[in-house]
Amino acid sequence: MSDHSVVVIGAGMGGLAAAIDLATAGCRVTVVEKAATPGGKMRQLHPGGGPGIDSGPTVFTMRWVFESLFADAGASLSDYVTLGTADVLARHGWTDGSRLDLFAGMERSIAAIGEFAGKADAEGYRAFCARSQAMYAVLRDSFISAQRPGLFDMAPRVGLAGLPALLATAPHKTLWAELGRYFRDPRLRQLFGRYATYTGSSPFAAPATLMLIAHVEKEGVWFVEGGMVNVARGMESLAGSLGVTFRYGEGVQAILQTGGRASGVRMESGEMHKADAVVFNGDISALRGGLIDGNRPLGPAPVVSRKRSLSAVTWSVAARTRGFPLSHHSVLFSENYRDEFRQVFGNQSICERPTVYVCAQDRYGGRSPSGETERLLLLVNAPAIGDRASFDPARVEEVRRRAWAVLEGCGLSVEPVGEATIATTPDDFEQLFPASGGALYGRSNHGLMGSFQRPGPESGLEGLYLAGGGVHPGPGIPMATLSGRLAARRLLEKARGVSSGWRLPQTALRTAGSGAVFQTT
Ligand SMILES: Cc1cc2nc3c(=O)[nH]c(=O)nc-3n(C[C@H](O)[C@H](O)[C@H](O)COP(=O)(O)OP(=O)(O)OC[C@H]3O[C@@H](n4cnc5c(N)ncnc54)[C@H](O)[C@@H]3O)c2cc1C
Repeated sequence: MSDHSVVVIGAGMGGLAAAIDLATAGCRVTVVEKAATPGGKMRQLHPGGGPGIDSGPTVFTMRWVFESLFADAGASLSDYVTLGTADVLARHGWTDGSRLDLFAGMERSIAAIGEFAGKADAEGYRAFCARSQAMYAVLRDSFISAQRPGLFDMAPRVGLAGLPALLATAPHKTLWAELGRYFRDPRLRQLFGRYATYTGSSPFAAPATLMLIAHVEKEGVWFVEGGMVNVARGMESLAGSLGVTFRYGEGVQAILQTGGRASGVRMESGEMHKADAVVFNGDISALRGGLIDGNRPLGPAPVVSRKRSLSAVTWSVAARTRGFPLSHHSVLFSENYRDEFRQVFGNQSICERPTVYVCAQDRYGGRSPSGETERLLLLVNAPAIGDRASFDPARVEEVRRRAWAVLEGCGLSVEPVGEATIATTPDDFEQLFPASGGALYGRSNHGLMGSFQRPGPESGLEGLYLAGGGVHPGPGIPMATLSGRLAARRLLEKARGVSSGWRLPQTALRTAGSGAVFQTT
């Protein structure tokens, strides 16, 4: 494939993964990224010019996705990225003063839940774990690792014997309703319902299938030494060693087409870069929004604003903290979870008392902050209206006040030091990730069909492939990475004229746990 040239637009997880697989297969790959660094949403900010604070993803799961990506390129993840295991998966607090830790070991979590909510809910948790594990097992191979399956394509994949398990993933029920079968304590329903937000969705509208995220976390949450951005840097470094060229600091203005297929890109400077194929890692709504050159609108349908996933308001801050003993990941819950999602998805606003996620970045692996201050990322859910509304300083301050009131209610005082706070709002996210409206996870997963409406790797324009959190199998850093691999695989299949049966080289079919990483379609 050395005569095959590919431009990858965007150095997010999906773009980096696609670049690695394509270079491994022998393609000449150039990654063009409008930001100055790789990672996309995985980025660090430096409030007050101080040390970097991870200001995007902070929860690293599904380590096997990255291990197999590196292994298939003939490398080892551990040579590029140092990971440590989290003992406490997350600490949860409520305004009534109650607290609950979830642990990496299930029995410890069962004991903690027993103390927190009683024996019945502890047993409920055991049953919930079994169910979420079964869901993950059936969906990993039939959905997550497969080229965009439709609802009805999945039945043949699991076979007759697998059908009951497939039905048990309950895509027709809401996560919230199903959680009621396992937990009587509303706080536990809230805690496990929050997993819907990992796909930018509401637990009151997302399918019960998202229970599988609980299993993914139970399988392991890792710390990344030096910060999450080291994952992106490690992927960039591996890609570089495979001959991938990176160009930063200038965006692509248009995807060129010749004879009905993508033929390269035009940079903002007007410079043309010809290629045999293009992988697009930006938000899919940008494509029909004018990014594809030509008169006829091409590409997947943009995500209409009411179907967008959650956005967020985040604060990256060096602060003094008191009270609530923060863990690396802490979630401080408000009292009215339903109202929170009603406001975001219904009224497109932020509720009076939002739940706050806090990542205390100096607390991990037995370490605690060395001085008086510590590095925090705080996050509240927000509507993806960044293309229509701007969060002026007064509005941001109002949201901050509401978030800090919930923190105080849970016993945590956060006192920013000096001016060292950077707030990022939906309109900032829209600027960073054009055409997204600030939605951080593509479209929401609401309803029976929500998960099946993300496009697959093919864009509708020959030679143009899609990768990223807005594409199948969905958002989150492991999923976006898988989407990049699926895009590379489809591109290579097409370039080689084989539409089925061809598999990625080496270890792509290695098993991770009980099933194959990739399946042929
Ligand atoms: C605050 C926050 C917290 C999160 N928390 C978690 C978490 O804890 N765990 C988890 O797994 N996931 C989390 N996520 C989600 C996760 O970060 C994303 O799903 C994933 O990183 C998306 O990767 P991607 O491949 O879609 O690329 P993106 O990160 O979206 O990057 C796309 C890149 O394309 C570039 N680009 C776009 N258009 C152009 C153009 N025209 N020319 C050149 N370049 C262009 C952009 O600059 C960007 O760098 C979080 C996200 C955010 C924002």
